[in-house]
Amino acid sequence: MIIKVFGCFQGDKKGEPWEGDCSTREGWEKLIQNPKIIGERNKGVIVEHEVELKEKRPPRLYFLDSIQEELGRILGMTPKEVLEGPCQELYEVRKLITYPRSSSFYISRERYETLKQQAPALARLVGFSEEDLVFPERLDGFFVNDKKAANHSAVVPTTLIPTEEEVEALPDALKIVYKAVIRRTLAMFFPKYEYEQTTIITQVGAGRFKTVGQVPKNPGWQVLFQDSASLLDGVIEESEARELVKVQINDTVTSHLVPAERHVKKPPRHTNSTWLRALRTAGRDLEDEELIAIMNQIKGLGTAATRGAILDEIVVNKWVTVKQGKIYLSELGWLICETLKDERVLSQPETTAIWEQSLSKIAEGTNTQEKFLKNIYRYLGIENPHNNLIENLIKAVDRTDYIPFQDFIEQAVAKADGKLGNCPLCGKAVKVLGKSKVAQCEDNILSKEEREREAGATPVCSFNFWITVGFIKDKKKTLTKKQISDLLSDKGRTNLIKNIEGKYGPFDAYAYLSFNEEKGIYQVNLEVDKATSKK
Ligand SMILES: [Zn+2]
Repeated sequence: MIIKVFGCFQGDKKGEPWEGDCSTREGWEKLIQNPKIIGERNKGVIVEHEVELKEKRPPRLYFLDSIQEELGRILGMTPKEVLEGPCQELYEVRKLITYPRSSSFYISRERYETLKQQAPALARLVGFSEEDLVFPERLDGFFVNDKKAANHSAVVPTTLIPTEEEVEALPDALKIVYKAVIRRTLAMFFPKYEYEQTTIITQVGAGRFKTVGQVPKNPGWQVLFQDSASLLDGVIEESEARELVKVQINDTVTSHLVPAERHVKKPPRHTNSTWLRALRTAGRDLEDEELIAIMNQIKGLGTAATRGAILDEIVVNKWVTVKQGKIYLSELGWLICETLKDERVLSQPETTAIWEQSLSKIAEGTNTQEKFLKNIYRYLGIENPHNNLIENLIKAVDRTDYIPFQDFIEQAVAKADGKLGNCPLCGKAVKVLGKSKVAQCEDNILSKEEREREAGATPVCSFNFWITVGFIKDKKKTLTKKQISDLLSDKGRTNLIKNIEGKYGPFDAYAYLSFNEEKGIYQVNLEVDKATSKK
């Protein structure tokens, strides 16, 4: 249990409430023993007060993940769209940025020197001047690493520098991405961000609570991101730029102790960018140290170049739906999770780690390709009738006790093959082919080949009906798929259809299906809605 203190100052020192965590274990254990103290207003004393000048370095240079994540959020695109759209065009067509599929956030010494020379020109493109730049005396290993930039390096501007007019003429998405890459790169040549960090320790009863606040002193590189606020929240993490009320040691305050559990919020829904991050950090909570190291080394699931596509695939398959940038599990997605959860091979990130481990062992010569494949066959259980992965999954689907899913599957299957309902004569599927105006039983439909092959061939089932309603030629309404389904359902009729063209003007009616004995055919009849027919 964690207890937080909300402090309020007394008298002329009254200020905003603030929040602190009980900083010693013994402290809060004693507090819990005294239930009266929780939820009550108590006297607190400031026992420590420290102000420290701190600095923060700029964020790392862009690499595939971060560029997809941040620009995706700003442009409202999926990671894959960011990569294949503006990034690819800036790289391949306009030649303004370096290779965007890079998983490295380092640049070589040589590239650094080039960028340093270009910095004044780049600064002008984003509204800054040479005077704003500061060139550090020593190379910063945080950005520059020849070894780690050997294959691919961070995404930075190329040596081709366009004029201001040319930049302004770029399509919006390109302009936003290009300028973001410039700002991110220029941050290397801006002063550090400096802030004052204030730490206050408040003693309440036996508990000591720590409160931390920040006051910005010199914005440094942060000025680069200030006119693009949305960029800022990705770049400046945990920005607790919260000024604390000025206090001194021995000041007394009123405090309010509240168990922190009350403030626990549901984790927020994933967005495209947090989702991407989740893939990258997957596996950090594995139990096996070696596997954790492997997952860290390979940076989670997938690679920087494939993660965006993996997530897109999940959306396309409708395992999730995206509403207003937030990601929701669909019925199908829920079922997949529910079904796979017992098959650890398929559902746990450690599978990736174990396979990567095997691959590196093959590279080292301590494992063989044959052994590796044999293990995969064993996982699949292809030759094992009692433990076959596919069979197990089918059983798991059956075991899944989830009624909405049964409906869902029926609908999905019906949708996939165009089935609108069941034939009242033989029970088979009723469909409407292409732009046909006739709904037909499956067995009433003869393919072109069948007709050609057997001239005069007759369909097995005779069920069909016209799906248009109305009495004026050329102005007939075609029933929607939903309305046709309704006709064929137990309900037997449609909802109110508005504005059907009649001989004396438009009218509203319900449609239902009936058999015309005289003509020997099924047809759609109308029941005029009395409430709306008097117009
Ligand atoms: Zn039929």
